[in-house]
Amino acid sequence: MSAAEILKTYFGYDSFRNGQEEIVQSILSGKDALAIMPTGAGKSICYQVPALMLPGITIVVSPLISLMQDQVKALNEAGVHAAFINSSLTETQIAKAMRFAAEGRYKIIYVAPERLETAGFMQFAQNGNISMVTVDEAHCISQWGQDFRPSYLKIVAFIDSLADRPIVSAFTATATREVKTDIECILKLQNPRVVVTGFDRENLYYSVEHIAGKHKDDFVLDYIQKHADESGIVYCATRKNVDNLYEKLLQSGVSVTRYHAGIDNETRKKNQDDFIYDRVQIVIATNAFGMGIDKSNVRYVLHYNMPQSMENYYQEAGRAGRDGENAQCILLFSAQDVMINKFLLEKKEFEGMAPDDIELVKQRDVHRLQVMEGYCKATTCLRNYILEYFGEKAAAPCDNCGNCHREYYEQDMTSDAKWVINCIAETRGRYGLNIVTGTLLGANRARLKEIGANTYKSYGALEQRSETDIRLLIDQMVAEGYIVQTSGEYSVLQMGDIRRLKEEGAHVIVRKAQEREETGNRTKKKKTDSLTGAGFDLFERLRQLRQVIAKEEAMPPYIIFSDKTLIDMCARVPENQEEMLAVSGVGENKYQKYGERFLQAIAAFLSENPNAVFSTQIDEEVVPTPTAKKGHSSISSAVPRM
Ligand code: ADP
Ligand code: ZN
Repeated sequence: MSAAEILKTYFGYDSFRNGQEEIVQSILSGKDALAIMPTGAGKSICYQVPALMLPGITIVVSPLISLMQDQVKALNEAGVHAAFINSSLTETQIAKAMRFAAEGRYKIIYVAPERLETAGFMQFAQNGNISMVTVDEAHCISQWGQDFRPSYLKIVAFIDSLADRPIVSAFTATATREVKTDIECILKLQNPRVVVTGFDRENLYYSVEHIAGKHKDDFVLDYIQKHADESGIVYCATRKNVDNLYEKLLQSGVSVTRYHAGIDNETRKKNQDDFIYDRVQIVIATNAFGMGIDKSNVRYVLHYNMPQSMENYYQEAGRAGRDGENAQCILLFSAQDVMINKFLLEKKEFEGMAPDDIELVKQRDVHRLQVMEGYCKATTCLRNYILEYFGEKAAAPCDNCGNCHREYYEQDMTSDAKWVINCIAETRGRYGLNIVTGTLLGANRARLKEIGANTYKSYGALEQRSETDIRLLIDQMVAEGYIVQTSGEYSVLQMGDIRRLKEEGAHVIVRKAQEREETGNRTKKKKTDSLTGAGFDLFERLRQLRQVIAKEEAMPPYIIFSDKTLIDMCARVPENQEEMLAVSGVGENKYQKYGERFLQAIAAFLSENPNAVFSTQIDEEVVPTPTAKKGHSSISSAVPRM
C-alpha cells in the first residue's frame, strides 16, 4: 500500500495535511527527520504512517504515560498493532509485552525513556529489527525548554548501542532556535530533513476580556451556560482560585471537576479521567493540568488569570480544538493579575542555581511577563501578536480574534480618578471595590447608609458614569500604583502613591472597547454551524451513541470518533458502507467495529425526519465524492453556537 492508501485505510483521512507528506516521504527514503509543528497539526500521523510501511519495528519514546496509553488505544482502534511498555504495567505484563515484541507482533512500541536502559529492553532491541526510533516531545532533551527531562539524554546511547542505526525522527511543538539546535545536536540527527510548519492554529479564536476580579465568576458562568454540552478547561493562577470557582460552579449546577497539585493523587486521576471520558464537561485547574492530555474535543480554554508567559499561554490555550474544529481561547484580564504574577515570580525558588544564572532567569521571567501583559493590552490583531512573538512574519489582521472584531478608543478619566482618590480617603482604606464603586455612583443601598457613605463628599460624584466604567478606571489606577488593592478574602482599596497624579500634565487614560457592529456575520463559524437544526439534532444523537460505545469499550469518546468526524457524518448523512467510508476519520477498522451502528442510527433518524436538510457545507478537508449527494445548497438557518 502507498502512504496515501495507509492514511485512508487505517486513519480514514483522504489527504495529508501541510508538512505531513514531506516528513513521511523523507522517512521512507531513509533520512532522519525533525518536525516542528504546533499542537493539533497532526504529528503522530507523520511517524505512524511510515512505521506501518518500514520493514521492522518503530520505537516511540514518549515522556508521559497517559499520552502513550492514549496513542496506543487510538492505534489499536485503527487496527494497528501497537503496545506501550512503562511503569504502569506489572512485571508480568512487561515480560509478556516484551515477548510479543520479540515475536514481532507489534509494528509500533511506545516506551518511556527510562526503559531504554534496562537490560531486558536492550536485549530485545539489539536482537529485534528496529527500523526507526521516534522521539516524541523532543524538546524535553533541551535544557532551554521548560520541560527538560534528563532521562531523554539516554536516548542517544540507546541508538548508538544498536548494531544497525535506525532512522531517527524527532517531533516537537516548541519552535525556538535553541531548542531546535539542541535536538539536532544532542540526538545526533544525521543530515535530517527539517520541516517547520506555520505556528498558526487557524481554528482557534483568541480574545482578551478586561474584567475586574469579582465579575470574572459571572463571566465564566455565563460563558459556560452559553456553551452548554461543550467540553472546556478553565485555568486559574492559584489553587485557591480553582477551589472557589469550582464551588461556585458546582452550586450553579454546572458539570464540573477540578485539578491542582493540592489534591491527592487518586482523586486527581479520577477527576482527570472524568473529564477525558466526558463524564463531566468542564475542568477548573491550575497549570499543573494538561501535560499529556490528548482530548481532542476541548471546545474552549478560558484563562481566569493572566499566565506568566506567552509560552505558557500558547501551550495551555492550544489544548483547545485539537481535532481541528473551531474552538475559543479567552483570557480574562484584570490589572490585579499583573500584581499576582509579579508576586509569584518574587516568590519563585531557585534551588542549586548559580547567582549569575538566577539573575539571568529572573530577567527573562520579567521580560516574559511584560510580553504577556502586552498581549492582554494589545489593541491590534491578537493572532499576529502571538505569531510575531514566536518568530513568524505577521500577515494581515486575522479577522478571527477579539481585537479584529473590536474598536478601541482611549478616554481621559483624570478628573474622575481624583474623585476615586477622594472616596478612598473618605473610607480611610477600610472598604473594598463594591463600597467604593457604590459610593461614587451614589447608589441607594442600605449598607452604604449603614457606614455613613451617603454623607461623603464623593457620594454620587460619578453618578453619570456606568459601573463598568468606574471599575475599569479603578483597575487602571491599581495598575498604575495610585491605589493598592490588598489581597485576601476581604480585599480593600487603599491609597497608593498619588504623588504623580498631583503633578501637572498627569493623565489617567482608560482604554475602552467597542464591538464592531458587523461582527456577528463575520465571526468564524464552527463546523457545527454549517449544520441545520436537524443536522444538529443528528449530531447530538450520534454523540450519544458514541458515549454508549465509549462506555462499552472503556475508551475515551474522542478515540472512537472525533467531533470532527461526527460533524462530517452529519453533513454527509451516509446510507451505506461506501458513503460511510468517505467520512473523514472513518477507516476500515473503525468501520468494521462501529460503522453499522452509526449507519443504523442515521437511518433511524432519517426515517423519523424524512425531509430533513442537514447541512449547508461540507468539510473542506475532505475531497467531495460523487456520492456526497446531500450537501444541500445554501440554507442559512444554521444554529448559532458561538
Ligand atoms: P499533534 O500531535 O500534532 O498535536 P495529533 O497527531 O494529535 O496532533 O493530531 C491532531 C488531530 O488531527 C487528530 O485528531 C488527528 O487524527 C487529526 N489528523 C491528523 N492528520 C490528519 C489528516 N491528514 N487529515 C485529517 N485529520 C488529521
Ligand atoms: Zn485578529
